Amino acid sequence: MCGIIGYIGERPACEVIVRGLKRLEYRGYDSAGIVTEENGELFIRKGAGRIDELTGKLGFLEMPGKRGIGHTRWATHGVPNDINAHPQRDCTGKIALVHNGIIENFAEIKEELLSKGHRFESDTDTEVIAHLIEEELKSSESFEEAMRRALLRLKGSFALGIIYTGEPDRLYFVRNESPLVLGIGDGENFAASDVPAFLEYTNRAIFLDDREYAVVTKDSYVVKNLDTGETVEKPIHEIEWTLEMAEKAGFPHFMLKEIYEQPRAIRDAIHGNADVIRTVAEEIAKYEKIFIVAMGTSYHAGLVGKYLFQRLAKRVPVVEDASEFRYEFDDLVDEDSLVIAITQSGETADTLAAMKLAKRKGAKVLAIVNVVGSMATRIADLTLYTHAGPEIGVAATKTYTTQLTVLTMLAIELARVLGTADESYLNALEEGLNAIPELVESVLKHDESLRELAESLVDRRDFFYIGRGISVPTALEGALKLKEISYIHAEGLSAGELKHGPLALLEDGVPVVAIAPSGRTFDKMVGNMEESRARGAFVISLGDRGELKRLSDVLIEMPETDELLTPILYAVPLQLIAYHLAVLRGNDPDKPRNLAKSVTVE
Ligand code: GLU
Repeated sequence: MCGIIGYIGERPACEVIVRGLKRLEYRGYDSAGIVTEENGELFIRKGAGRIDELTGKLGFLEMPGKRGIGHTRWATHGVPNDINAHPQRDCTGKIALVHNGIIENFAEIKEELLSKGHRFESDTDTEVIAHLIEEELKSSESFEEAMRRALLRLKGSFALGIIYTGEPDRLYFVRNESPLVLGIGDGENFAASDVPAFLEYTNRAIFLDDREYAVVTKDSYVVKNLDTGETVEKPIHEIEWTLEMAEKAGFPHFMLKEIYEQPRAIRDAIHGNADVIRTVAEEIAKYEKIFIVAMGTSYHAGLVGKYLFQRLAKRVPVVEDASEFRYEFDDLVDEDSLVIAITQSGETADTLAAMKLAKRKGAKVLAIVNVVGSMATRIADLTLYTHAGPEIGVAATKTYTTQLTVLTMLAIELARVLGTADESYLNALEEGLNAIPELVESVLKHDESLRELAESLVDRRDFFYIGRGISVPTALEGALKLKEISYIHAEGLSAGELKHGPLALLEDGVPVVAIAPSGRTFDKMVGNMEESRARGAFVISLGDRGELKRLSDVLIEMPETDELLTPILYAVPLQLIAYHLAVLRGNDPDKPRNLAKSVTVE
């Protein structure tokens, strides 16, 4: 998982590349590098560290040439260091390339190449590609043919940017199971892992599909199928995201900006799906066997989806972590199954693999995705977009609440189609959903008091998040947010589980965050909060009932809404608590250690 940016045109390539790399850092950021070319000579500078640091240290902006490729790395093979940073080269130094993904059969190819006398510098899987092309070039008519022959031998995932000194006017870009988009300019062209990398120069994009490659010069491009070598006609998409949308808009961090964008994002999710939700609900109505597959925060959205489907449509989906689904449900998914895949990026490797399995078994696949044109949307039979806009913070916020919005709309509509819930209740719920953006605005007003609360908790080492029913996933998500950005240990669990073990961990001052909206299980939650307090826990409750004051050390007062809508609303203060704790502890919430935004390796 990493970021790739390529440029060919009349500008100094290094400038475009450094700007692009900055915008791609969220994809992975343990090291970075750039290759440019001038007068038949390649210039490579690379190293471990952040882009800003490296730009100064290595003089990225002084690199000559008007064509080049940059890379931010998130290591999979070989530790993050200067040598393993991309670009990687062949023995002659004429071929350089950057790679996003994993070459599964690299060890076997490397052995073969070593026996033919190739010398390797790095521990990466990537480097074999450069040497393999070099090897194939010995018996090929053209560089393109050598590249194709080499790539046909690779197993695994690869988005590549390739430069060859023997062909001064072009760059090659390849896509297989890792994202790559071309940006079409006027007398200049771009390629990147994601649109924001070149959006300040052009909004005309071509999304490569798996097993396609592009030959790009400054005035032309041609896309071909990797297996057949035949030219493929590709539509140009006009991207409507403005750069401001992808930038911080005055907030200190993307994450905070994205938390504050939620009212807008939820509104867009509602409006963007209002016209299509009926058709999708009708298409999926006949399926009684439903699987929801996702990872991380999207998985928690899936769990909320399960409660919504159960309560409203009387359907009981199996929600499974996509990395498990592939191996455990192989025999169980069939033509009578509906598989709902939830992924922000539409590139999550585990989720894509689960989707592909489902397709192979003849299941109907519905994707709930944020990134338009992403791989998931191309595998799926049906797609619902979350319309959250670009999310740069690694911790998912607005994409989670918009996933919940879409799932709520879908469950309501499915219940209508199936006649499983009272129409007047469904109408009221829909009205309640339409009012959620405004309620989120009111919850955001707690920001300052949540920051103060975070200040008082900054030294705590363990947090517990508890909930019941549809609030269980909210507890899980609250704990995940805290873990991933503040690095404080946190556990989310159903409140009923407390007594079965975790209660032993409660001692004086341990924060227990109780998600306690009015609803079926409120009274039971009261009991669990009392149990926690009796063990000295510091109870922070989120709810709309006055009696919570008596039961809590701190009450975060929430507006009233239907219990089924509380997951959207209650996620917001939990995001803010995690954000403030991360900042107070000196962490960069946008770039948590060891994590990256779109997880494109399994
Ligand atoms: N597998 C390659 C490496 O470890 C690429 C990783 C990435 O996608 O950044 O260098």
